[in-house]
Amino acid sequence: MIIVMASRKKEDIDRVVERIQEFGYQAHLIEGVERTVIGAVGDERGKDRLQSLESLPGVESVVRILKPFKLAGRELRKEDSVYHVGSAQIGGGRFCVMAGPCSVESREQIIETACLVKESGAAVLRGGAYKPRTSPYSFQGLEEEGLHLLQEASRAAGMPFVTEVMNPEQVPLVEEHADILQIGARNMQNFGLLKAVGRTRKPIFLKRGMMSTINELLMSAEYIMSEGNHQVILCERGIRTFETETRNTLDLSAVPLLKKYSHLPVVVDPSHATGHWELVIPMARASVAAGADGIMVEVHPRPAEAFSDGAQSLKPEKFKKLMAEIQPILKALGKTL
Ligand code: PEP
Ligand code: MN
Repeated sequence: MIIVMASRKKEDIDRVVERIQEFGYQAHLIEGVERTVIGAVGDERGKDRLQSLESLPGVESVVRILKPFKLAGRELRKEDSVYHVGSAQIGGGRFCVMAGPCSVESREQIIETACLVKESGAAVLRGGAYKPRTSPYSFQGLEEEGLHLLQEASRAAGMPFVTEVMNPEQVPLVEEHADILQIGARNMQNFGLLKAVGRTRKPIFLKRGMMSTINELLMSAEYIMSEGNHQVILCERGIRTFETETRNTLDLSAVPLLKKYSHLPVVVDPSHATGHWELVIPMARASVAAGADGIMVEVHPRPAEAFSDGAQSLKPEKFKKLMAEIQPILKALGKTL
């Protein structure tokens, strides 16, 4: 339920919050530019009791949230969510480019890549220390050492970094090192993991499962937010279809749909969506045009030698080209890097 306040007085707001909590619900205060609303979120079964809040001083109305995702939805929060992570901004008119290798392979590789992508205008470094691989015999990542190397590279280049966390036990260590925690496509519905990252205070980069609907992605964001962490970034990274020419099928319509249903920033990953480096630049351009708040792109100084996802990794000069090609589209939309 949404409690729309007519008043912005602290005592009126506190009274409503107290009553919501007495009813056994969580109260989420959202102070927008135009109005203050309080979201009452919890067990659906007792929601009728919340209607009585309408009689409290300072309350304008009590409205039911129709969508199953409450905290992630536009009904509760009209304004776009914007996060500041070090020097980077995600959402709100600035286009955030996250770039780096699929996996951290060595100190030299990650520092070299970080400096090159930063030079071309990337705002966030990406790189996997814990890798979810289809085969247990494939490279699994440098793990804790990878986190230290990412930290070193991110400091050297002067940019924050995002890296994947694969299970709840890894959360404290990854939270300690990373600026943004990534939940990979394969873990989008690992509810224990979603709850664990929901208890951290770092932004969460949530990738859409390869067989998940838009509604399911938003419900996974809701799991994270219901634990208290409201800084979620949604990522469209392609879904599995009958098409075999590409690794996945980029569902670009997810971008305007997610932006319609949710206030959370939306980022597209054209690398995992296509699986081929030649398709990354055109799909990156299309992502900007579709209204995404950013892109996540795999870049490797020598893709042929990459430990993982070399076929979809851009060489640094191609990444530079990508950055140049998205500029006129950003300008037409009134956005900046
Ligand atoms: C990744 O970003 O390295 C990754 C494994 O992506 P996804 O979870 O989308 O497959
Ligand atoms: Mn990858």
